Amino acid sequence: MTDSKTKFVCRDVKVAYGDFEALHGIDIDIPDRGVTSFIGPSGCGKSTFLRCFNRMNDTIEGCKVTGSLRMDGQDIHDPSLDPVLLRARVGMVFQKPNPFPKSIYDNIAYGPRIHGLTSTKDELDALVETSLRRAGLWNEVKDRLKLSGTGLSGGQQQRLVIARAIAVNPEVILMDEPASALDPIATAKLEDLIDELKERYCIIIVTHSMAQAARVSDKTAFFYMGNLIEFDDTERVFTRPKNSQTQDYIEGRTG
Ligand code: ADP
Repeated sequence: MTDSKTKFVCRDVKVAYGDFEALHGIDIDIPDRGVTSFIGPSGCGKSTFLRCFNRMNDTIEGCKVTGSLRMDGQDIHDPSLDPVLLRARVGMVFQKPNPFPKSIYDNIAYGPRIHGLTSTKDELDALVETSLRRAGLWNEVKDRLKLSGTGLSGGQQQRLVIARAIAVNPEVILMDEPASALDPIATAKLEDLIDELKERYCIIIVTHSMAQAARVSDKTAFFYMGNLIEFDDTERVFTRPKNSQTQDYIEGRTG
């Protein structure tokens, strides 16, 4: 499902690492609610662009982002906007699951504690449970909340990290190749979860798997050598692409 509301409006977004320009001026409108996937050959700038949405590129030395990125109309580079709060609103899940070396409970409770989202232990317990339920993990971990998050399987860890992102009440979840370290069963579970989460969140996913993009996303953006070549409904991109470079890529002639 996608609704017609736009979450992000990006205009002429360029990203450079030192003298090397990795993205050459991206214009895109990302819809709220639903899944947008970024596809394209390795090195074309998908992850770089994904990191623009929560200003993670700020943390990379020598990386410079220019152009305009608006979330719900607000310039995300506005100096009055605290990047820490932005990153709570725009959560991120990486290729390799990265739970904290803490208990399952504390992995989820960490963000709400920092941001002061709950005032009593009961409220925090309830938030931990809701977050784990939304991430499809509650039934698997409810009896071992005190055990370490790093002891879970890879697929469970990835859902734990998603629960951790959900706990601080985000609007957007960015996922950078979230299934690349998972086996096929854990991948299928993750894709089912993405399908449920898209009712509630704006999800942007970078994937090297065209099959995955076709399965999970409503909209697909094809990048090539630092440019956005085509952006359209996923079904259209995979069946009737407008651009010959897109066609070459989806038919396996490039990449
Ligand atoms: P993709 O996600 O499509 O594989 P990336 O966004 O990771 O592409 O990379 C785009 C380009 O930017 C590549 O040429 C890559 O080598 C370069 N790049 C990415 N991260 C850095 C970095 N931290 N420092 C310098 N160059 C980088």
